[in-house]
Amino acid sequence: MIVAIDGPAGAGKSTVARRLAERLGFRYLDTGAMYRALTWLAMREGLPLGDDGIRLGELARDNPVVFDAAGRVFIAGSDITANIRQARIDQMVPVVARHHEVREVMRERQRELAAQGNAVIEGRDIGTVVAPGAEIKVYLQADPAIRARRRQSERPDIGVDALATDLRARDESDRVRMQPAEDAELIDTTDLEVDDVVGRIEELIRSRSLAAQ
Ligand code: C5P
Repeated sequence: MIVAIDGPAGAGKSTVARRLAERLGFRYLDTGAMYRALTWLAMREGLPLGDDGIRLGELARDNPVVFDAAGRVFIAGSDITANIRQARIDQMVPVVARHHEVREVMRERQRELAAQGNAVIEGRDIGTVVAPGAEIKVYLQADPAIRARRRQSERPDIGVDALATDLRARDESDRVRMQPAEDAELIDTTDLEVDDVVGRIEELIRSRSLAAQ
């Protein structure tokens, strides 16, 4: 079974997806981390990010992102788990993720993983493009002020106003790829605890499984 969890930054995707995967005993895939890792590498290599999709696609193909069992993220032999959660990466990822050459490589890898079954996959286009046949599709959303506040606990060096501005800019760049699938369950996490959201998704899984029997 594939559980697709899409939605904007700060809606709670990572925390929810990770906890759900743990509870179900499923693998967990953070597709945002893949785009972040590539962005980090492209910046380290000094590549132009905006206008050379072919080169970035090649970079992605030559340097697969690897996750270890503890959830650490590696690219080109470097552990970049912490580096990819910086504001400079937040700002540049959509520029890299926009290139179709990059998306082709990433989606191919994400589909390979989905084909192995039983996974919780989080991102922006999982329910719509990567795994349109996913049994469970969830789209998380939340009030923008809450999203910025949640983000601040992960980026303590940046003020909440600057984070809110960054989130708005990123939403705008990601907008075309950030539409909920028609058959996705929308969950507004503004006033919900992580376990409430996880519980709702588990309930959805139970009801779908019963309906399918
Ligand atoms: O989810 P996260 O905030 O880590 O994603 C970082 C960025 O990666 C997004 O803002 C988006 O530009 C890109 N992304 C994407 N497609 C995905 C996941 C992430 O374009 N499936």
